[in-house]
Amino acid sequence: MKRCRCGQDMDITLRTIVHARSIEVLHVPVYTCSSCGHSELMPEIKKDVIEIMKDVYNAEASDRTTIYFEERHELASVLKECLESGGNDSDLVQVIEQVLNERVNHLLDIYLLAKTCGDAAWTEDIERRLKQISCFRSNPFEVKIS
Ligand SMILES: [Zn+2]
Repeated sequence: MKRCRCGQDMDITLRTIVHARSIEVLHVPVYTCSSCGHSELMPEIKKDVIEIMKDVYNAEASDRTTIYFEERHELASVLKECLESGGNDSDLVQVIEQVLNERVNHLLDIYLLAKTCGDAAWTEDIERRLKQISCFRSNPFEVKIS
């Protein structure tokens, strides 16, 4: 868990981020402090949020657009599942670790399948998802399938 500059442990919550009043990104993982009210984007996903906003802004600048971040980012998807399963603060870290492990195993299974099919786009997509998750894990895994 992350510690706030005021010394309090921070919570993970899912927030809506709005850009230029036209792009709305739902369920973005944010660290918040219940003591001083400070909040910040989770560093692991910050770059990806900005990138997605840029892409959407360039492509659909005229319309108001809503994006579900968990559909674009595997880590957000895992965190959403953990928070919705109702894990309380004390065991949230363990819940996250467990769901992450399950998700990685699942992705590795699909990865093998995609490789077997020789589907390059699919393989690439799964590699991207694995990378998104791996930045949050305490024990980084390696993809050993060749
Ligand atoms: Zn604080």
